Amino acid sequence: MSTAPAAPRAAAEQPAELVARLRATFRSGRTRPLDWRTEQLTRLRALLTENRAELVEALHQDLGKPEAEASGADIDLPVREIDHTLAHLAEWLAPQPVDVTGVFGADATAGTRLDPLGTVLVIAPWNYPVQLLTVPLAGALAAGNTVVVKPSELAPATSAALARLIPRYLDPEAVAVVEGAVPETTALLEQHWDHIFYTGNGAVGRIVMRAAAEHLTPVTLELGGKSPVFVDADADLDAAARRLAQAKFANAGQTCVAPDYVLTDPATARRLEPALARAVEELFGADPQQSPRYGRIVNERHFDRVSGLLDSGRTVTGGTRDRADRYIAPTVLAGVAPDAPVMREEIFGPVLPIVEVDGLDAAIDFINDRDKPLALYGFTGNAATRRRLAEETSSGGLGFGAPMAHLRVPELPFGGVGESGMGGYHGLLSVETFSHRKAVLDVPLG
Ligand code: NAD
Repeated sequence: MSTAPAAPRAAAEQPAELVARLRATFRSGRTRPLDWRTEQLTRLRALLTENRAELVEALHQDLGKPEAEASGADIDLPVREIDHTLAHLAEWLAPQPVDVTGVFGADATAGTRLDPLGTVLVIAPWNYPVQLLTVPLAGALAAGNTVVVKPSELAPATSAALARLIPRYLDPEAVAVVEGAVPETTALLEQHWDHIFYTGNGAVGRIVMRAAAEHLTPVTLELGGKSPVFVDADADLDAAARRLAQAKFANAGQTCVAPDYVLTDPATARRLEPALARAVEELFGADPQQSPRYGRIVNERHFDRVSGLLDSGRTVTGGTRDRADRYIAPTVLAGVAPDAPVMREEIFGPVLPIVEVDGLDAAIDFINDRDKPLALYGFTGNAATRRRLAEETSSGGLGFGAPMAHLRVPELPFGGVGESGMGGYHGLLSVETFSHRKAVLDVPLG
C-alpha cells in the first residue's frame, strides 16, 4: 500500500477534523453555484485526459490491464459521464414546477428542487479503480457536495496516482483523498456523513450499512453477484460467443457485471462450446498469456480462489494457469452442475461455466431460485422470450445482445437490486443520488 500523503494538510488530519473542514466548506456555500460545479467537473475531466498515460500505466501495474481496456473503461467512460453531466446539469438543477392551483388557488406556487446533501464519502474497489471512484465523485460534485474519496488499497499504484492528482486538480477545500485499508476505512465509517457510496462486495456492504445506521446516513451499495446469460436455441451462436467472450474475459473476468455463467439447453450447449473456443482464440490468439489484450488476476489470494474453481466441469478451452504471472487462461467449462464450486460464489475471474437447463421456463426458475443478480443477459431472436425475461425475473440491469454495454450509457441508471445492491447512479441518477429532492410550497397570505 502506498503511504504517499494525499496532500500535506490531509496527511496530518484526523478523520473527524477532515470531515469538520469539508463540512465548513459546504456550510460556506462555496460548492452550491453552478459555476463551481461545472468548473470542478471540467477539472476532473482534465485530470483524466491529461494524465491518461500515467493512469493507464498504474492500471497496468496493478492489474496488468491492457492499454485499450484501461483507456476505454477507466478514462473514456468517466469522461463520457462528465460530458453528459456538463451538457445537462443546468437543466437538471432547474426547479421543477408543480401545479397546485387546484388545491390552493391561482396565486399558489409549488415545485421541487435538488438540494446537495452536504459532505459525502465514496469508497471504491480495485477492479476499475479509476472509473469506480471518479464517476461517483463526478455525481457528488455535480450535486454540489464536499467529498472524501477512498481508493482501494488492492490497486496501490492507482490509489497513489489518484491521491497525488486529485488535490492538484480539484478544490482542496471541498475534495479530499484518504488512502488506506481496513483501519483507515473503519475510522472514516465512524464519522457522520450525509451519504455513503460504496462499491465492492456484499460482506463489506453490510459493514458499511451498519456503520451508516448509527447516523441514519443513507447509503448506495454497488455490489456484485452472479450475472446469468440465457442463450436461446435460435440465437446466432457465433456472434453470441464473440460478444460473450469479449465481455467475460475483459479485465480477466474481474468485472461486477461480467457474464458469470451461461444457461442453455443441452443441444445448444453442444453448438455453443466450440463457438466459444473459437471466439477466445480470435480474441487472444492460441496462447492468451502472450496476448497484449489479456489481463491478470489482481493478487495471489484471488488467483488461488479462482484456481480452485477450474475443476468444476469439462474444460472446453483454457484451464491453464501460472501463479508467478498471476495468469489464468480464459476458460470455458461445460456440463457444470448447479451446485459445483464455481456456481456457489461470484466467480470474478476468467471462468465461464455452462449449465444445461431444459429451456426457458427452467432458466427463469433457475434465475429466480437465486439472489437477484446485478445484470441478466439474453441472446435470443424471439421477442416473446425477451419479454418473458424482462417481466418474470428481477435484476439490476437487463441486456440483450451486448453484455455489459448498458453501463456505458449515461442515460441508463446503473445499480443492483436485492443482494446486488441498492440505489444507483450514472447521468441524472448520479445527481439525484447525491441530492435531496425538496418540496417547496408557497401559498400567499390573504
Ligand atoms: P475491495 O476489496 O477493493 O473493497 C472495496 C472497498 O472496501 C475498498 O476501498 C476497501 O478498502 C474497503 N474495505 C474492504 N474491507 C473493508 C472492511 N472490513 N471495512 C471497511 N472497508 C473495507 O473490492 P472487492 O469488494 O473485492 O470488489 C469486488 C466486489 O465488488 C465484487 O463482488 C464485485 O462484483 C463488486 N463490484 C461491484 C461493482 C458495481 O458497480 N456494482 C463494481 C465493481 C465491483
